[in-house]
Amino acid sequence: MKKLIIIVLLSYTSIVNVSAKEENDIVNFYEQNTEFTAGLIYGILRYEKNTAKFKDSDCVDICIDEKVFFSDEYLNLPKIGIDARGDGLDIEDYDDLLLSLLNHLDGDIENNLKEYYGLKGYDIIKTIEKIYNEYPNDDLLVRQFPIPKRHRGDYQNAYGTKRSYKRNRSHEGIDIFAYTSTPVVATSYGVVEKMGWNELGGYRIGIRDLHNTYQYYAHLNSFSKNLKVGDVVKVGEVIGYVGSTGYGKEGTRGKFPPHLHFGLYKYDGKKEWAFNPYHHLRNWEKK
Ligand SMILES: [Zn+2]
Repeated sequence: MKKLIIIVLLSYTSIVNVSAKEENDIVNFYEQNTEFTAGLIYGILRYEKNTAKFKDSDCVDICIDEKVFFSDEYLNLPKIGIDARGDGLDIEDYDDLLLSLLNHLDGDIENNLKEYYGLKGYDIIKTIEKIYNEYPNDDLLVRQFPIPKRHRGDYQNAYGTKRSYKRNRSHEGIDIFAYTSTPVVATSYGVVEKMGWNELGGYRIGIRDLHNTYQYYAHLNSFSKNLKVGDVVKVGEVIGYVGSTGYGKEGTRGKFPPHLHFGLYKYDGKKEWAFNPYHHLRNWEKK
């Protein structure tokens, strides 16, 4: 508590009456008295949550490297840890972590974010911020099956099986069979990161969502009218239509039966890797 007031006094001399007893107080304080917007704080906290489970330590929700959190023993590193309640600095205390993180990122926020999270992490945080700013009142974590109920075709757990067009590779996704021109919808809120032709995927769309996942929709017959890179899409919004495009130069169709190839790639804070969407699809299907 004392330390928060010292920081408050140093940075914002006109504001003194801040209670750091609860997470909300800290978030509200940063929203109201700094350049942090609600969307940006949401982006940072979601990104922290998304990457926490991939870190070595058993932290939950927010992870700060122990070496930088407690700087006393590591004098060459900048101090990050702040005791939010005056009950001792604790790397497992969510309020200490939250206050420390936001305080550390405050100031030249954009550059601090790039330095702390790297460019890829920064881009994902800005993506989540963008989604939040467009739909601040929606339940942003809802997910759904990529093809509307009445059009749904069959799919098998063929993730990882061999594919041999051009070179041998493993099948990084699930193929959902459906008639040409069946609508394809976004499985969650996200931002269109890639759109257009590639040889393997044909007409494809890549969406970056707020679960640190890149969703890949391939072999589309066509895209939803007016959709473009940078657009925020809502869960369930039509993004394109099932087709059989790919395996050749732009416009190639019919080299295989029409289906949606659906792939998921996770960014864990360090690297991006493909994982099997099959069980997610089975869950979303029930909705
Ligand atoms: Zn496929």
